[in-house]
Amino acid sequence: TRYVYRFGGGVDDGGKGDKNLLGGKGANLDGMAAIGLPVPPGFTITTEMCTRYYTDGGVYPESLKAQVANGIAHIEGVTGKKFGDKADPLLVSVRSGARISMPGMMDTVLNLGLNDETVIGLAAASGDERFAWDSYRRFIQMYSDVVLELDHGAFEEALEIAKEDQGYTLDTEMTADDWKALVAEYKSLVSKLWNRPFPQDVNDQLWGAISAVFGSWQADRAKVYRRLNSIPHDWGTAVNVQAMVFGNMGDTSATGVAFTRDPATGENAYYGEYLINAQGEDVVAGIRTPQYLTKQARERAGAKPLSMEEAMPETYAELARVFQILETHYRDMQDIEFTVQQGKLWMLQTRSGKRTAKAALKIAVDMANEGLITEEEAVARVDPAALDQLLHPTLDPKAPRDVLTKGLPASPGAASGAIVFDADTAERRNELGDSVILVRVETSPEDIHGMHAAKGILTARGGMTSHAAVVARGMGRPCVSGAGSLSIDNAAKTLRIEGRTLKEGDILTIDGSTGEVMAGEVPTVQPELAGDFGILMAWADKVRRLKVRANAETPLDCQTARDFGAEGVGLCRTEHMFFDAARITAVREMILADSEKGRRIALDKLLPEQRDDFAQIFMVMAGLPVTIRLLDPPLHEFLPHGEAEFEEVAKAAGVGVEALKRRAAELHEFNPMLGHRGCRLGVTYPEIYEMQARAIFEAALIIKQRSGEAPIPEIMIPLVATKKELELMKAIVDSVARQVFEEQGASVDYLVGTMIELPRAALKAGEIAEVGEFFSFGTNDLTQTTIGISRDDAGRFLTQYVDKGIFARDPFVSIDVEGVGELIELAAERGRATRNGIKLGICGEHGGDPASIAFCEKTGLDYVSASPYRVPIARLAAAQAAL
Ligand code: PEP
Ligand code: MG
Repeated sequence: TRYVYRFGGGVDDGGKGDKNLLGGKGANLDGMAAIGLPVPPGFTITTEMCTRYYTDGGVYPESLKAQVANGIAHIEGVTGKKFGDKADPLLVSVRSGARISMPGMMDTVLNLGLNDETVIGLAAASGDERFAWDSYRRFIQMYSDVVLELDHGAFEEALEIAKEDQGYTLDTEMTADDWKALVAEYKSLVSKLWNRPFPQDVNDQLWGAISAVFGSWQADRAKVYRRLNSIPHDWGTAVNVQAMVFGNMGDTSATGVAFTRDPATGENAYYGEYLINAQGEDVVAGIRTPQYLTKQARERAGAKPLSMEEAMPETYAELARVFQILETHYRDMQDIEFTVQQGKLWMLQTRSGKRTAKAALKIAVDMANEGLITEEEAVARVDPAALDQLLHPTLDPKAPRDVLTKGLPASPGAASGAIVFDADTAERRNELGDSVILVRVETSPEDIHGMHAAKGILTARGGMTSHAAVVARGMGRPCVSGAGSLSIDNAAKTLRIEGRTLKEGDILTIDGSTGEVMAGEVPTVQPELAGDFGILMAWADKVRRLKVRANAETPLDCQTARDFGAEGVGLCRTEHMFFDAARITAVREMILADSEKGRRIALDKLLPEQRDDFAQIFMVMAGLPVTIRLLDPPLHEFLPHGEAEFEEVAKAAGVGVEALKRRAAELHEFNPMLGHRGCRLGVTYPEIYEMQARAIFEAALIIKQRSGEAPIPEIMIPLVATKKELELMKAIVDSVARQVFEEQGASVDYLVGTMIELPRAALKAGEIAEVGEFFSFGTNDLTQTTIGISRDDAGRFLTQYVDKGIFARDPFVSIDVEGVGELIELAAERGRATRNGIKLGICGEHGGDPASIAFCEKTGLDYVSASPYRVPIARLAAAQAAL
């Protein structure tokens, strides 16, 4: 089997550049080499090798040695240098490269191939002793960190001490002899911490790095990242070995990262950062503050140090030409790493750039308008889940702000929360329901779980392309990075900003769109939904087949949903109206009554309120269908707690507190979710459903008269298991309808249907459809009752189920297609067989989940119903499912 693919110097073994085999980085290095861009020669060890390495128990097949040697020979051939040569050594970089870029894995080792002898050769060949020894110390430092996994703090400390001893503040002040002394220091550190000398054999170095890349695939933080991003554990990573080029060979050398469009706003302008006389990790790690790529960006920021466009105009022009070629070739915004070695430009990486939701929208719409991609491709390009970032509130521009400082606007959106200083605390407090802002000097892949748990992230160091910025943008967390005036005392758990001190738990607000950091909580406003958002949504609506409705029960939620493009209400949970503080006493009175008469007295108090609720909803949803579900939750949930509540109900009902308490004890249930709830309430207390039906029809007639347009109520019976239940409930609704229509001398059309949320209902759907005029899959309960896992308690163990691969994703978030999905398919089929064209929808939480929506499209449902903020997500996901 072939495990090694070469590129550069006119060779591109990878052909079309298969990302699955070569990883994203490898495939694109090969791709750039193939279109003649300047790529240092190298080779890629495939992801297949990684998978095999693990299935074989951490050993390599015999044939790999020769293939790698052949790869090294290729690099030697193109560069004319030899690996391990004492006179003019070849140095290589070793990088990981999964199918999609994955923070949390071993990233990069640079300058590999240096040892006590080759460093002298490098000094002689380059004519730059300082550069050679600087490269060697960088190599030892990086290799010790990422391959040997020694404490990198010790190395940083040694460097700081060396500088202090000489009275330097900057690394650039270190001389060749200083670096030489530091190398000696580093080597003794390695011997001490690793109990073995730093490896001098260049091939040992190379194999050590290759194994570290493969090993990092199974590191805990990489696993966490895969779990959070639903990346399969068996994809594996590739390893890229490539000739080094040097951005640290003096003032005509530089290194940088760039985006072909602005990754924060999507603006069609080059965006990037670079550093003169530096190596790549200096930019990414935020060790030195990088400078702007373009003059425009520098001027906008009011920064002084010259941009690359101004400092190196010719090389910049060459880079801009490459940007054009890459965007046209890959037809997407590219994220690029480059190095300039003594005036010559080298491309080290290109990939589709991560971007904010706002930028994703703008870039997709712009590229379609530019003719680079089609409208349908634009629709396919935007991740529906990422829209979330755009739909959430931003800081109220009129609200007063106590601005403490300003950093870089690294990931948009605003967030307030309690200050925490480490990832574990962030996670713990989040679990307790607190909003937290994670404040760090800089973040590293070990912080990912804390970044996920936090509402926002604030760092003292690092640029727009630092780890914190990239990860936060990917997660949709607001982030302010590089807030230089921040001084963090991790031991005391305090934060000093411009002379003010804040401690853990104090409330902080960050605005990731401006970089502002504020004390206290700042109010927010709703987002603007016109412009690119509206255009892309219109394109999505053109290709979508599934209708999108909303789960909403207040006029305000209905309005939000309608503004977001909902095409009706798919689920109005009437119990939410019962919990209203002003009504709960009447509701309790009704529940605790010990006779039908008592219940009717209480229900009469609720009737006008419910009628008013429904009238308002019908108004907002004029012309659109509204599905109203009759009362569903266990009565148990409404029972009074504590003396005061009992007294209040006793007073309203005119009965004694003791009698009420006795009645409440009778109503107590051990397993309320499987207890007296759903249509079982309608069977035992028909007067409840009568009152609700009356409220619906009276409201519908009021609105018909007022607006001239009759609403179309779809009355839905919950938790039905048998045809007979539905028959009884439908008879109640029909008879109330007749009464009301007769009383008022007017009528409206309506439907009576059922939820399918029990396995028995799904199995008997054929029969149930003889009565039910529509089905709505209540996949929350259907998941709970099919798998037998409590939706309220599953959180405690489901993460482990996902980690152990029992479920690919939480089945309450994304439909268990194989199990619950089969029941849905079966019910749809049986329902249709009885009632041709029966209307089918879904109203469980899954109705807003893109993967579940794809399943609904495949099953041919008529609509999905999602919470208001997820309506746009559902519209886009439904369009993508139809493409
Ligand atoms: C469901 O069970 O999926 C549903 C929508 O109903 P609820 O969440 O109110 O139980
Ligand atoms: Mg339910």
